[in-house]
Amino acid sequence: MALTFHDLMTCLDARYTADDLALLKRAYEFAATAHAGQFRLTGDPYVVHELEVAKKLAKLKLPVEIIAAGLLHDISEDTAVTIEDLEREFGADIAGMVSSVTKLKKIKYRGVDRYVENLRKMFIAMAQDVRVIFIKFADRMHNLETLYAQPEAKRIRIAQEVMEIYAPIAGRLGMGDYRGNFEDFAFKYLHPKEYAWTEHLLQERVKKFGPALQRALKNVEFEARKNGISQITIHGRLKHCYSLHRKLVKYKNDISKIYDLVALRIVVPDVPSCYAILGILHGMYNPLPGRIKDYIAQPKPNGYQSLHTTVFDEQGSILEFQIRTETMHEENEFGVAAHWKYKGTDKHKDRHVKWLSELAQIQKELSTSDFMQHLNELKLDMFKDRIFVFTPQGDVIDLPEDSTPIDLAYSIHSEIGNKAVQTRVNGEIATLDKPLKSGDMCEIITDKNRTAPNEQWLKSVKTRHAREKIKDALRGTKTGLWTSLMKRVR
Ligand code: MN
Repeated sequence: MALTFHDLMTCLDARYTADDLALLKRAYEFAATAHAGQFRLTGDPYVVHELEVAKKLAKLKLPVEIIAAGLLHDISEDTAVTIEDLEREFGADIAGMVSSVTKLKKIKYRGVDRYVENLRKMFIAMAQDVRVIFIKFADRMHNLETLYAQPEAKRIRIAQEVMEIYAPIAGRLGMGDYRGNFEDFAFKYLHPKEYAWTEHLLQERVKKFGPALQRALKNVEFEARKNGISQITIHGRLKHCYSLHRKLVKYKNDISKIYDLVALRIVVPDVPSCYAILGILHGMYNPLPGRIKDYIAQPKPNGYQSLHTTVFDEQGSILEFQIRTETMHEENEFGVAAHWKYKGTDKHKDRHVKWLSELAQIQKELSTSDFMQHLNELKLDMFKDRIFVFTPQGDVIDLPEDSTPIDLAYSIHSEIGNKAVQTRVNGEIATLDKPLKSGDMCEIITDKNRTAPNEQWLKSVKTRHAREKIKDALRGTKTGLWTSLMKRVR
């Protein structure tokens, strides 16, 4: 059944005002008129796509302007309506978002160049206005849902783009739900056999553990209420296919090492209730040693917060529980989009904003050809899993995986980098190129008489920032030496 405007209305919660609804109605009618007579390859009228995109944005509870821009996102490319028309009709803000989404679509290259250009455009758009990325994500998600209607070559190209560009960006923006779905769709089209096999494993597991999960769900809810926690929702969650595939590769296909194929997710109102539930669970079941993870006290580097525990139930089945508050749940699933809920973000509180502004900075520094040249470093900086390292002062520094003490030193201050001579990791003297792990406490020992960094460091550093600073400093000493020589000659 094709989606209707009424369906979109039913997705909007009570926080949207009558004015909001009127704006959406106007945008919908405008889009329906402009796209009249156009159809998708699925056979649906074109405007159904605009409604689907708007619905995804509404489900993220985003401000009404973004949903309206979603309804209009294809208009300037596919109809006679211009951005100027939109501006007159809906104002500069909405027209601006539509214009940015349209620019993202215009790619003139093929092959690797196409990939680079795509990535670059996404980065620019994101750095300028992250709202445009939400619309692009919703647009791409619906295109994936209807990808079966596309010719084979296009299916593969879209799936590749999603796997290499969209999914990592979603991950970096903390949008776990989008990342998981992007990867699963792409996986299905890129590796159909592996996809089918992983999907089969998951279904088997659901069949095997379904009854135990059902039982646990009821019992835990009962115990929680008995202990005075009445506001509780519990639901089963199935691991994403691609995420399971990644784990299977890591554990050399030994599925017995993977405990979180299916899990029960418990959402409660506040942090004390999370710990109370953990206590209740451990009173009911025997926890598996070493499997209790407190990501509330120590969030994962991407900001993920939850308590995890794996237990044996009364019949010996192994079950995983994930316990979090409503706010943590939204943050885990929707990341930066959760901060935009209803009214827009508080820029100072948003940890993703730092990443976006770094992106904007890199954008300014690099021309297209430089972007191409630095692509691998950039991908590493931007998409690699992150680690948290502590300084002796207790500051937490966020770095890409496998970063070294040199990377840390330069991320604190370039002078600390330039004058670094030694390091202590967790109290032990270590070499400056030793890869750091999350949770390490790393102290940089400097020598104020040191004049320049070691050129060899360029081989081990992982961040673009450190590499650039080292090069700057080396260049500086070389020109410095040169000038002093020149002086002497004179
Ligand atoms: Mn579209």
